[in-house]
Order: sequence, then structure tokens, then C-alpha cells
Amino acid sequence: MEKDVLIAGAGPVGLVMAIELARYGVGVRIIDKAVQRTDKSKALVVWSRSLEMLARAGCSAGLVDAGYKVSSINILANGKSIAHFTLDGLPTPYSYCLMVPQSDTERVLDEFLNSLGIKVERTVELTKFTASDDKVASTLRHADGAEEIVETSWLIGCDGAHSTIRHQLGMEFHGETSQIDWILADIHLENKPRAPEINVVWHTDGLLATFPIAEDRYRVIADVGVVPENSNPSAEPTLEEVQAILDRRFPGGVRATNPIWLSSFRVNERKVTDYRAGRVFLAGDAAHVHSPAGGQGMNTGMQDACNLAWKLALVVKGIGAESLLDSYSAERSPIADEVLKVTGRATSMATLTGKVKQSLRNHAAALVLGVPLLRKFAADAVSEISIGYPQSPLNAPGGHRDPSPGARAPIRASEPPVGAGNTPLFALCAEPDGMPSNFLGRYANLLEPTLREPYHRGGMWLVRPDGYTALSAKAGEWQAVSAYLDRTVRSS
Ligand SMILES: Cc1cc2nc3c(=O)[nH]c(=O)nc-3n(C[C@H](O)[C@H](O)[C@H](O)COP(=O)(O)OP(=O)(O)OC[C@H]3O[C@@H](n4cnc5c(N)ncnc54)[C@H](O)[C@@H]3O)c2cc1C
Repeated sequence: MEKDVLIAGAGPVGLVMAIELARYGVGVRIIDKAVQRTDKSKALVVWSRSLEMLARAGCSAGLVDAGYKVSSINILANGKSIAHFTLDGLPTPYSYCLMVPQSDTERVLDEFLNSLGIKVERTVELTKFTASDDKVASTLRHADGAEEIVETSWLIGCDGAHSTIRHQLGMEFHGETSQIDWILADIHLENKPRAPEINVVWHTDGLLATFPIAEDRYRVIADVGVVPENSNPSAEPTLEEVQAILDRRFPGGVRATNPIWLSSFRVNERKVTDYRAGRVFLAGDAAHVHSPAGGQGMNTGMQDACNLAWKLALVVKGIGAESLLDSYSAERSPIADEVLKVTGRATSMATLTGKVKQSLRNHAAALVLGVPLLRKFAADAVSEISIGYPQSPLNAPGGHRDPSPGARAPIRASEPPVGAGNTPLFALCAEPDGMPSNFLGRYANLLEPTLREPYHRGGMWLVRPDGYTALSAKAGEWQAVSAYLDRTVRSS
């Protein structure tokens, strides 16, 4: 076998997958059929939870350096702000939305991957594969037309919305394509909107949103109406069309200049049911595509990668049970279901037609987002720090105190993130009183070599290498920890 894992697709999700596996010492090959990385700004927001996850590999700092921090989101209707919420003060080291054009995100991730000794093989396309019980044989076509067959233990499809791997697996991509056309402008704005904040305008004509990318560079998106079924997507907008929409929906003299990228798109909302078929996995857009409202698509995919990589690393090294891999789809599929539900609802709400319905919507939103607790709930959700796996098969039964099994473990600035380094280790947060002798030594390939502080007195917590809580028990329940590691994690 040439390598443990072949990753097809070096978009943001494939790159994160390769970084995570490579730093854990898994033999990885990553290919992409494109000649070069995207030069488009596509996915603009990297949310707090993605940055927390990337910090484990040490590559969040590069993204923060490349990005532009924006901490507030403003919803306007009838020329007035009806809701305003901020990510300031969120319990995360990254209490802001980080605006980074996807082209820069991919550059930073690609450079980080190179620093781990792995290079993306470009103009190499996976055309087909055959999976058996113990390996996957993939056919790769090189730029000169030469074909190569590569055998790996595992294959991961990070090959985007039109995934060859998903097609070959015969997996249904359930969902629909909306009948509303949108325009997108990556553009410079003069007399720009106030302060660096995201503005979402609910106009009677439809939605307009402005996202700052740099000092006076902005992303502008707007819906431009319902189109007949099966019609071709609208042509790219002109600068004048973008200006006309700005004049109408966002009055105040904002002037669009120097376009970098003008495009149109139609929202696709689709998902597979299962992210795994034997030795083959899907991640990112290959498994789920969403409305860009909420900007969760790429982030959801990157977090798929962080979820799968530590489990696969433990299995490849013969430390973890293969059943760990079944939890990948069990955990990540409900997350994409929720993203689809919420972003779908947000898009429908923003594109609501009819003055009465729009007025009711505006009043309801002002009322709901006027309540501080609900604003905090919205900020936790949008930053993705409230993502958890309460129904995971990997959760230990019971749960003594928060964080409960499946919940994101709080991040303490004073210590390195759990899961950092070159082995996927669980952290045990407990007082040492009564710890059986050589307890940590018995699990040296699964547990960090020293205990961390418990989150509350009288309790103990086991935290997974991806920062989610596996077990919450009363102090001294060492037996619960060994039972969990022996039965749920360790290979027999
Ligand atoms: C206009 C727009 C705005 C968006 N805004 C946001 C946002 O603000 N926030 C957000 O989170 N998301 C956003 N998204 C979504 C985001 O761009 C995608 O979710 C993200 O690119 C998915 O990453 P990926 O790695 O799964 O797939 P992709 O980025 O599509 O990468 C797939 C890669 O696989 C390669 N490939 C395909 N087939 C093969 C094959 N057979 N062999 C080898 N290589 C192959 C392709 O060349 C490509 O490089 C936006 C998308 C668009 C279009």
C-alpha cells in the first residue's frame, strides 16, 4: 500500500483534512484536478469554532493574519436598524467573524500543509475507484493523460459539490435548487457603510447584504427575483446593475467601484444521508451544500475534516477501534441537517415578498433580537461555538455536570488546545486524588501525560482530541474513564 489515505480534492476541506492527518503522522496523498487554487473570494467568513479547531494544528494564526476582523452584524429594514448583535465577549479566543477571501484561506492552508512536508498534486484527477474489504484502488488521470492506479487503505472525497466519488458511490444528493437568482459582487465601495460590520438589509424588493473584506473592499450579495424552473442561471451582473441595487436598497450615496469578481448564483440545498461507505468517506461540499446565507458551508466542511481525522489517525495507527469511524457520519450528518434547516429558513425569511408579511417579519425580528439572551443565543449559533454532539454514540452514559458529553469543552487561554501536537490524545481534567497508580501510563497512547484542571470542583471530564467532551463524571470515578477508553475507544 503506497499511503494510508488518498484525499481527492484540495479545496479548503481537503486541505484541512490533509493537515490534520499529516500532523498526526498518517501517510497522506492529496490530489486536485485543477491547475491551481481558486482565485475567487467565494467563502468569506471563517467562524470562531473553525478557528478554534484549526488552532489545534497551529494554523489559525496564519488565517487571522490574512483576515479582517468584524465583530458585529446589523439587520436593517425601512432604512433603520431593527437588530444589532455582536460577537464581542463570546467565550472563545476568536470573538469575531474573520473575513478571509477563500483564495487566501486556501493559500494559508496550502502553505501550512507544505510546512508539514506534503504538497498537493495538481492536475491529477480521480476518475474511478474500486473499494474492497481491506483497500481502495483509485484510478488517477495525470495532465498528460497517463493513468495511474493507487492503492490506499482509505479514500476521502473532498471533491466538492459535483463529487465524482459521491456519484460513483451512487449516493443520492437529496434536496433542491432554489428558483431565486442572486448576484454577488466582490467590489470596492466609496462612501462605504459605517464601521466594519456586516449589514443585512431586508428591503421590500429583497435582500441586500454587505460584508467588509478589507478597508474598502466589500462583498455585496442581493437576490434578484424568482426565475422559471430549469432556466439557465442569470448572466454576471454589470457594475451599473450592482450600483442600481445599492442605490435602491441601501441609500446613502454608497458608490461601487473597481470590481474584483462579479458573479451570479442560485442556491443549492442538498445532502447525502451517510458520509461513509466502508473505506470511503465524503466531507465538505461533496456531502452537503447550503445556502450562502449564514456563510456556514466551508466552515461545516472544515469541521467535518477535524471530526474524522483524529478518529482515522487512531484507527490507522492500530490504537483506536474501527467503530470510531461510524461516529463520523452519526455526528456530522445532523450538523449539516441543522445548517440546512437554519440557513434555508434565514434565506426564505430574507426573501419574503408582500408588504404585510415583510412588516410582520420585521416586527417579530426586532422583538426577538431585542432580548439580550436571544441575541447571545444567535451569536453562539452563528459563531458555531454552540455546535455539539448530544446524541453521539461516542458519548459516555450519564453526565455529572457541564460540559456534558457531546458538548464543546470550554477553551482555557492558559493551556494548549486539547488535540494539539502530533498524536490525537484525550485530555483528562481531574484532581489527582485517588488516581490508581500508573493510570495515565496504562493509556499512554490515548491520554495526555498529565492531568488538566477540572472544570468544576468535585468533577472529572474526559475531552476528545477535537475538543468535545466525551465523559463527565464525579471526581474519583476513575473506573468510568477506563471503561470508556477500553470499550469505546481502544481497539481490542
Ligand atoms: C459565492 C459563494 C459564496 C460562499 N460563501 C461562503 C461563506 O461565506 N462561508 C462559507 O462557509 N461557505 C461559503 N461558500 C461555500 C464554500 O465556498 C464551499 O462550501 C467550499 O468551497 C467547500 O469546500 P470543499 O473543499 O468541500 O469543496 P471545493 O472548494 O469545491 O473544492 C473541491 C476541490 O476538489 C477538486 N476536484 C473535484 N473533483 C475532483 C476529482 N475527481 N479529482 C481531483 N480533484 C477534484 C476541485 O478542483 C476543487 O479544488 C460560498 C460559496 C459560493 C459559491
